[in-house]
Amino acid sequence: MKMIRDWLDHAACRDADPELFFTVGYDAQAMQDREEAKAYCRRCRVRAQCLDLADQTDVEDGLWGDTEKDKRRPPTRGDLTEMFYSRTKLLPGGHLEWTGFFTKRRCPVLRAGTKNLSAYRVAFRLCHGREPEGHVTSRCGQRGCVEPSHMQDSVTRAQPAA
Ligand code: SF4
Ligand SMILES: [Zn+2]
Repeated sequence: MKMIRDWLDHAACRDADPELFFTVGYDAQAMQDREEAKAYCRRCRVRAQCLDLADQTDVEDGLWGDTEKDKRRPPTRGDLTEMFYSRTKLLPGGHLEWTGFFTKRRCPVLRAGTKNLSAYRVAFRLCHGREPEGHVTSRCGQRGCVEPSHMQDSVTRAQPAA
């Protein structure tokens, strides 16, 4: 987990718009965005690590290490764990802030290859080892917290407090 955090700190695209790396189509704007993304990759010090991660991830589109590929294996549980924690920041009180991508409605999203996964649902799976049922919410009351042990689904919400 720490290793991936270390190299991501050196990613040239760290503060770039993630959309640049997931362009769709070939119109003028998409081509311009793709070139901008490639420029980040070409000056990136951690391109090799990025490519390694891409090889462990099921990506059909998206630019990783200046490379677009169409066949990669699905992310393993270990990959997702690393990807999840590398996009978080520990807050006082044991809460976890999401530093990754957000939808326009401020839902935290973990982008795993071509898939956009809800960070809340990934967090729930990390703690409980099963798919959540129904809506996943945070039981701690800290807005936007994604700490896995603070997540609850319809089953755990219905259980009496210990
Ligand atoms: S190689 Fe490109 S996509 Fe990968 S971390 Fe560097 S800038 Fe980002
Ligand atoms: Zn919390």
